[in-house]
Amino acid sequence: MHLYGTQSINENGHLTIGGVDTADIASEYGTPVIVYDIALFRARANAFKETFRKAGIRAQVAYASKAFSSIAIYEIAKEEGLSLDVVSGGELYTATKAGYPRERIHFHGNNKSYEELEFAFEESIGCIVIDNFSEIDLIKEISEKRKQKMDVLIRVTPGVEAHTHSYITTGQEDSKFGFDLKNGQTDEAFLKLYQHPYINVLGMHCHIGSQIFETESFRFAAEALMTKMITWQKEYDFICTVLNLGGGFGIRYTEEDKPLEPSAYVKEMATIVSSMTDKYNYPIPEIWIEPGRSLVGDAGTTLYTYGSSKIVPGVRTYIAVDGGMSDNIRPALYGAKYTAVTANRMNEPHSTKVTIAGKCCESGDKLIEEAFLATPVEGDLIATFCTGAYSYSMASNYNRLPKPAVVFVENGKHQLAIRRETYDDIIRLDIPLSNVESGEVL
Ligand SMILES: *Cc1c(COP(=O)(O)O)cnc(C)c1O
Repeated sequence: MHLYGTQSINENGHLTIGGVDTADIASEYGTPVIVYDIALFRARANAFKETFRKAGIRAQVAYASKAFSSIAIYEIAKEEGLSLDVVSGGELYTATKAGYPRERIHFHGNNKSYEELEFAFEESIGCIVIDNFSEIDLIKEISEKRKQKMDVLIRVTPGVEAHTHSYITTGQEDSKFGFDLKNGQTDEAFLKLYQHPYINVLGMHCHIGSQIFETESFRFAAEALMTKMITWQKEYDFICTVLNLGGGFGIRYTEEDKPLEPSAYVKEMATIVSSMTDKYNYPIPEIWIEPGRSLVGDAGTTLYTYGSSKIVPGVRTYIAVDGGMSDNIRPALYGAKYTAVTANRMNEPHSTKVTIAGKCCESGDKLIEEAFLATPVEGDLIATFCTGAYSYSMASNYNRLPKPAVVFVENGKHQLAIRRETYDDIIRLDIPLSNVESGEVL
């Protein structure tokens, strides 16, 4: 059994996180509940930041907050001195409500609307990562209308595609994000931007994949972007001050995953950037990275209560929990794998093979196809590990299930970060037919 971060087992044989008994969390807040190990989040943030500091490279570590977005996690990210990536007006709004320092907010997305971009200008955020030609036109229009400067990065697809355990270089990039580096689009975008009176090109950005377990793909990407930056220096006497290499650092969901230390990625980036800047006598850019999953993924644990079961003789035993694809759609969406434990009987042998099913009305609503638990007893507290990234942020009200509560734990203390939805929350946008405020009576 692999335990993460501050997880431990107490004298009652219960799983604890951050020094707090998960059985106490379940009885106080109910289930399902997602518990975040805040000390682990802080440790990861520091591991990225410290490696840059030790390498003597100026850097920004931005939390890619689509992985888990809430006011409270933004407050922790702010405390840790992280920058923040947002990908929508909604995430930007959440950041403003958390009092996030505006200069440390970066705005991503492949279809930012006029309203979203104007919101970013109103808030004077740190930087907009420009994705496509339509967005260039919008940003020019807004900055000229407002006579307001804006720092930007140009997002490119460098022709390297990282996979879980390897990477490939692709000639023709087929991605909905960014400008192609090789076919001239990136140069065309740069030429449209670099002399604009209100737009300040800081440099280039790429994000090459997710759940990456090797460092070579980052080196290849850094080389590709630096090479372009060096040609812009030669041809236009233009210096990029920022090189953003994105996120995608892998974490351990199951024993098949062999994650690297955060420092391994950072060292590879620092090495290639130092060697290229030396060789071409180019001023060392700031390196920005954007970890999402690797900051919050294994810091999150979901607690469920086991309710009913079904035995299909000779095939499998289903045990059903009180959540499912509504709070974690990743297994149903793309076959993501997780591990689980019986949190209230951790010391008993985990040798009963079951399929953990959710309670949604979809046959595909299975959280774990093959889990090994203590002999299940109805009412058991089942913990699935590594649910901190892309679970709550993708949660839905399918079957009108209320979204779970989110609780932060640290140093023996616990605090509600997102309250559980009520039935009233579920109907809050519904308008009964008798209640016509606009439009016509049917
Ligand atoms: C999603 C995303 C990230 C974070 O990816 P992780 O795999 O969660 O680390 C970083 N940068 C950009 C641009 C992204 O879209």
